[in-house]
Amino acid sequence: MRKKTIAISINEKNCKRCGYCIEFCPAKVYGAAKDGLPLVNELDKCTSCGFCELRCPDFAITLEVIAGE
Ligand code: SF4
Ligand code: SF4
Repeated sequence: MRKKTIAISINEKNCKRCGYCIEFCPAKVYGAAKDGLPLVNELDKCTSCGFCELRCPDFAITLEVIAGE
């Protein structure tokens, strides 16, 4: 199976900087900016599991599959 190419968008206005996505991403894709905003530091490690998008309490994360299955 080909790996999906994924884009992650974070809505900075909606994000309350709770850190759930940073802490619970199984692939450790996110880092944190000084103010707690998640940074997509290691996108190539993302397995497109969807956990972050599903669990963000503020619906601030959008995953978009650009290519792949
Ligand atoms: S889980 Fe959502 S609200 Fe919390 S830091 Fe991540 S993007 Fe922001
Ligand atoms: S989709 Fe899964 S692997 Fe990718 S950033 Fe979100 S929680 Fe991490």
